[in-house]
Amino acid sequence: MTPLLTVQDVRVRYGSLAALAGVDLSVHDGQRHALIGPNGAGKTTLLNVIAGATRPQRGGTVRFDGRDVSRLGPAARARRGINRIHQRPAVFSTLTATENVVVAALPRAVPRRRWWPGGRRRAAQHRAGPLLEQMGLADVASVPAGHLAHGQRRQLEIAMALAGRPRLLLLDEPASGLSATEVGRLVDLLRALPRAVAVLLVEHRLDLVYALADTVTVLRDGQRLAAGTPDEIRTSPLVRQAYADGVA
Ligand code: ATP
Repeated sequence: MTPLLTVQDVRVRYGSLAALAGVDLSVHDGQRHALIGPNGAGKTTLLNVIAGATRPQRGGTVRFDGRDVSRLGPAARARRGINRIHQRPAVFSTLTATENVVVAALPRAVPRRRWWPGGRRRAAQHRAGPLLEQMGLADVASVPAGHLAHGQRRQLEIAMALAGRPRLLLLDEPASGLSATEVGRLVDLLRALPRAVAVLLVEHRLDLVYALADTVTVLRDGQRLAAGTPDEIRTSPLVRQAYADGVA
C-alpha cells in the first residue's frame, strides 16, 4: 500500500550545521508514528519540512496522498490535509473555546446550501460542539481560551487542528509543560482519535510515545538511527546509546 506521507532524502542545513542530512520517513493512513531522539536531533526541523514551513535543500521530496507537495507552503498543505499543533498552544485567548474551533473550522466548512447567507459559519458552528466534546472540553465551551488551564489549551489546539479535517496530524511535543494528570488525560484523548487521521508525534516523554505509537523513528544528528515497533526501539542497544550520549 502506498504510504500517505513519504519523505525522501530530506536535507536542511543551517550554515555549516546539517540539521537534516538525508532523512527518509513514511507514514501510512491511520498510523501513529513517533519521532524521537536526543535534543538537536532534527525532529522539529523534519516536522517543519513536512508542514511546509521549511524547504528541503538539494532535491529532497515530500509526497502526500500520492502527490509531490515539496513546493507547497503550509496553508496549501493544510488544505490537502496536513495539520499541525505547535510546542506552545496557538489559540486566540480572548475568544471562547467554541469561537476558536469555529474560526479553525471555517476554511473547510461546507454549507448545506451554498447560497445561504452565513451558511459556512453555521456549518463551522455545527462542527465545533462535537469536536470540543471529543477533546474533553464540552464543559468549558464558553470559557475564553486565555482562562483555560495549559492542558485544556493543548486540547483546544488539537480540536482546532481536527476542525481542518486533517488526514495527517503533526504533534510537536504535545506533553510539554503538562502535569502528570494532564498527560494521562491527553494520552486517553489521543488514543481515542479516529483512525481516519494519521498521527506523526514528536515527543520526549517515552511513556507517552510507547502508549500511542504503532511505529517509531529515532533521529540523531540529522540522520535516521533506527526505526521499528516500540518494543524494538525500547530494546535497541543503538537507541539506548544515543539517549545515553545526548540529553533526551
Ligand atoms: P529538541 O528536542 O531540542 O527540540 P530537535 O530534535 O527538535 O531538538 P531541531 O530543533 O530540529 O532539533 O534542531 C536541529 C538542529 O538545528 C539543532 O542543532 C538546532 O540548534 C539547529 N537549528 C534549528 N533551527 C535552526 C535555525 N533556525 N537556525 C539555526 N540553527 C537551527
